[in-house]
Amino acid sequence: MNLFETLHQTEHEEVVFCHNKEAGLKAIIAIHNTVLGPALGGLRMWPYATEQEALDDVLRLSRGMTYKAAVSGLNLGGGKSIIIGDPKKDKSEELFRAFGRFIDSLGGRYITAEDVGIDVNDMEYVFQETENVVGVHQVHGGSGDPSPFTALGTLQGIKASLEKKYGNQDVGKYAYAVQGAGHVGMELIKLLRGEGAKVFVTDINEESVQKAVDELGCEAVSLDDIYDVEANVYSPCALGGTVNADTIPRFHFDIVCGSANNQLATPEDGNELERRGILYAPDYAVNAGGLMNVSIELEGYNRERAMRMTRNIYYGIKKIFDIAERDNIPTWQAADRMAEERIAKIGKIKMPYMAQRKNLFSGRVKNGHGHAIENKIV
Ligand code: NAD
Repeated sequence: MNLFETLHQTEHEEVVFCHNKEAGLKAIIAIHNTVLGPALGGLRMWPYATEQEALDDVLRLSRGMTYKAAVSGLNLGGGKSIIIGDPKKDKSEELFRAFGRFIDSLGGRYITAEDVGIDVNDMEYVFQETENVVGVHQVHGGSGDPSPFTALGTLQGIKASLEKKYGNQDVGKYAYAVQGAGHVGMELIKLLRGEGAKVFVTDINEESVQKAVDELGCEAVSLDDIYDVEANVYSPCALGGTVNADTIPRFHFDIVCGSANNQLATPEDGNELERRGILYAPDYAVNAGGLMNVSIELEGYNRERAMRMTRNIYYGIKKIFDIAERDNIPTWQAADRMAEERIAKIGKIKMPYMAQRKNLFSGRVKNGHGHAIENKIV
């Protein structure tokens, strides 16, 4: 790989390769863009088959975080980190503390959080070495499970989509096909059923489906039949890539709006939805509730504020639809454009990053994690 040519194309600011022989640490931190604020994004631990695969993953994910934060109106940039290793076998205190020291050495340009393969206990070790962590345990003033916020945000995306498609937000009047009754999916189903909506559900986990049927009154469908269901809204809340050349021709849906990341297998699938008159609410704007929730830890966590911010996803999605109409482009492209426009506009009026950083952190410094509030640096 020609590394700098790749970074030139992906427009990354900084990529840090972290190594500690004693701890067995091999990690990469990728900072994509800090125009809007410090780069925030989770730490993933995965037994990558090759170093190239690890690098590709961290570059792709960190870039995605820039867009998600920007489109969500957050004063955050995009970053992500990965540790090469097996989360079942290779975890240790020294590994995470060594990693935490690398995070700390970045002086707040990158803030980490949990992602695949990482749990709150691992984050406790990272937190011992740096304050630049969010998503720590609630006993330290952390924000806890982000899924209910992601589900609430997804509901806002659904409301904005109903408004655009049918001219009303009457959630209970319509039928939904929810793929995946996991952390987010189950919460979303509760919200939909709470409004009296008809909900079809599928999941590879039969117990989850049974729970959704018995306790929430959903109708179960098989894994493959979810794409053929006669419903108004398809809500992917499990995997990426389920909106593709094989599934789209089967859709009777008017709207695609769910929490899963990377729902479109390719951008062309987004164009195809547009051609068929199926409204696509862009995934990374719809599922930003979790990110919004952890971002509030920077100022001292407040659940009510997180809920209020998450409800604004409704306006964000409406704005994306407006840009799509204004520029006559598909909605997936309008989301990218909205993010890029915001970064460009704020970039023009912005103070130099390091000067701005002190202000950004002054509200939180450690009070969000249960430390004495008097320690606040102002
Ligand atoms: P989860 O693992 O709790 O739930 C996923 C569910 O999907 C599980 O119940 C799983 O059994 C099911 N599933 C897996 N493969 C399936 C298949 N082929 N068909 C049907 N069901 C299948 O995960 P989650 O936290 O609920 O996240 C769901 C999606 O939302 C993921 O794509 C995730 O990246 C995205 N997301 C989650 C959050 C969050 O706050 N948790 C935030 C942003 C995005």
